[in-house]
Amino acid sequence: MRIAVLAVQGAFAEHRKKLEGLGASCIELRKKDDLRESFDGLVLPGGESTVQGKLIKELELYDGLKMRIQDGMPVLATCAGLILLAEELANDTHVYFGTLPVRVKRNAYGRQLGSFHTVQEMEGIGKVPMTFIRAPYIEEVRDGAEVLASVDGNIVAVKYGVQYGLSFHPELDGDHRIHKAFLNMVRKVI
Ligand code: GLN
Repeated sequence: MRIAVLAVQGAFAEHRKKLEGLGASCIELRKKDDLRESFDGLVLPGGESTVQGKLIKELELYDGLKMRIQDGMPVLATCAGLILLAEELANDTHVYFGTLPVRVKRNAYGRQLGSFHTVQEMEGIGKVPMTFIRAPYIEEVRDGAEVLASVDGNIVAVKYGVQYGLSFHPELDGDHRIHKAFLNMVRKVI
């Protein structure tokens, strides 16, 4: 099993470390040629969605990735990655992959005081640590997307088919159960 981590910007190294710690092999996607490698799952890390969105187009990664996601490749998208997957943004006119039927609000906790840590129940996993950094949250869930966790009434984790969308950064905490659940899902698909 091989997982590709989008590595154009943001917290990709931390995801890689987690996944390798769980025994998965990883590749980093930085340019179009990297899409020639075979992989079974995709991680879209946190960072800055506007920068990532621009780079995936410029580096010609966009079409190949969108095709794979539409064809049913499992995706773990965190924070900026969630923004790239969302079919609608509440406060931004951009749509990137648009494969996750949710409306996401960027920088939803305010730009300056937007970072915090909490522990909250996540469906199918239990109580998990959650680190939020200038995070988005999910304002609306549509078409069979399933809510997995909320914090203070705001949705912070969803699953839609084989796509996980999280507002927070599981790669930055000591817990590995979310990455494990993702790898289990990939294992079922391949
Ligand atoms: N604020 C960032 C954005 O809108 C997301 C922050 C993050 O990934 N930690 O892209």
